[in-house]
Amino acid sequence: MKLHEYQAKNVFADAGIPTPASALASDVDGVLAAAEEIGYPVAIKAQVQVGGRGKAGGIELVEDDEQAREAANSILGMDLKGYHVDQVLVEEAVDFENELYVGITMDRGEGKPVAMVSTRGGVNIEEVAEEDPDAIAREHIDPSFGMHPYQARKAVYDAGVDQAVARDVSSVLTTLYDLWTSRDGSDAEINPLMVTADDEVIAADAVMNVDEDALFRQPELAEMESEAASGDELEQKADEYDFDYVRLEGNTGIIGNGAGLVMTTLDLVDHYGGEPANFLDVGGGAKADRIANALDMVFSDENVDSVVFNIFGGITRGDEVAKGINEALEQFDEIPKPVVVRLAGTNWEEGMEILNEDLVTVEQTLEDAVQRAVSYAEEVSEQ
Ligand code: GDP
Ligand code: MN
Repeated sequence: MKLHEYQAKNVFADAGIPTPASALASDVDGVLAAAEEIGYPVAIKAQVQVGGRGKAGGIELVEDDEQAREAANSILGMDLKGYHVDQVLVEEAVDFENELYVGITMDRGEGKPVAMVSTRGGVNIEEVAEEDPDAIAREHIDPSFGMHPYQARKAVYDAGVDQAVARDVSSVLTTLYDLWTSRDGSDAEINPLMVTADDEVIAADAVMNVDEDALFRQPELAEMESEAASGDELEQKADEYDFDYVRLEGNTGIIGNGAGLVMTTLDLVDHYGGEPANFLDVGGGAKADRIANALDMVFSDENVDSVVFNIFGGITRGDEVAKGINEALEQFDEIPKPVVVRLAGTNWEEGMEILNEDLVTVEQTLEDAVQRAVSYAEEVSEQ
């Protein structure tokens, strides 16, 4: 579960991390009132759970009422990487000298949490990690002892953070680790952690992802989840249909049965140079109407350019699924996007015979199906 920036900032601020004064608004009048209260200049920031909002036009710095009105009008209601913006955070603009990155995540390779610090904040940290891995200082933490103060200082020192703010940055990092543990975080990140001319550090952005399975013991965060979920119409739809669904940023839609199988399909799409648009597990015993709902989900995602079905028959029989796919697609005068199907397991042969090849492309192997879907997606996106 991902918190919105404003929610993560509240959690961070409660723990003592400095954050700018801010207020949430959902209409132009609200933005103007908040800006008045905080005092210009302010930053107006789209509250959607994707990174890179700045580059995508979801963040504007404004100096007065007129600019604020204009920015509010353009950001509220905009579509940001497929997310509808219905709330903005109006925030005291920070006059900064430097932008740092600090974050805590689980290093699955090491089986330990890792604290990360970099002086190359304010940009996509994954890109920094790829181009210049040494620009990020890393310190693995033994969860049974927690983060020792010297570890925080070492990470900050290794990253080359200015002496004048090293102490404060270490303290932010320590607090972030404490939050990560006590609030069952999977990622906690501040990018950028801004450094002002007066050597103050302030969290200008905040990311906090929480382990869904721990929400039962995080009632406060669980409450935020219901607020946070409302932003994405597709994720809401997935809740109604009772699907395990995660929206991603690519254009190849993926439908499968069983989480492992869907993950494998995602990996293969990536392997063959495509970009997955989603994770969608229809679950066991998927009858025709569920298949139709699954197709409705992926076709509703305007980023989707092709769809690959990967079904392994078990409880779900291949012929059932094939019937479901036919029935769902027969409802369209024109199939919105090309659909590729791979069936295996129980009754796969019956299924293959049933599938209407006027409506879908059938492939025998998973590799072929994925490659086909990826090339369809390329063709469609070039049109
Ligand atoms: P993201 O792009 O979704 O990660 O959003 P961020 O909150 O990290 O903002 C992106 C960039 O916008 C930051 O790195 C800053 O350069 C700029 N920005 C955000 N807030 C402020 C602010 O208060 N003052 C100034 N000067 N720039 C800001
Ligand atoms: Mn950021």
